[in-house]
Amino acid sequence: MIYKMSRTDDEEFDYRTLLEQEAASLLSKLGEIGYSDIGGTGLEYDSNFADSSQVSAEKSETESMVGELRSALLDVKDALARMENGTYGICQGCGNTISPSRLEALPAVKYCITCASENSKKIGK
Ligand SMILES: [Zn+2]
Repeated sequence: MIYKMSRTDDEEFDYRTLLEQEAASLLSKLGEIGYSDIGGTGLEYDSNFADSSQVSAEKSETESMVGELRSALLDVKDALARMENGTYGICQGCGNTISPSRLEALPAVKYCITCASENSKKIGK
């Protein structure tokens, strides 16, 4: 007899594990550069260093890296929260289902490919 969901059990993709691994990896990267505390304000530098262009360059490099890691981590946490309330895999822009192949590549993604390309056009990337 045939009893099948939209995909087979064998192919069931474990997004939760993937997201949890992603969160752990982001946290460890933040820890490596000294910003393990996501809840804190972080990014506090001694203002005496401000007039050194070398340090400023390093600072802005670190800041942008921390910013990226943090926003990625927030996306992962959002995705886990959506999983809890049953809206995981639904585009935040248009409400359509995000394709499984897109979720497998980018488990924390919030938008379907259509909205994502619309958004990036607006931002001008
Ligand atoms: Zn969409």
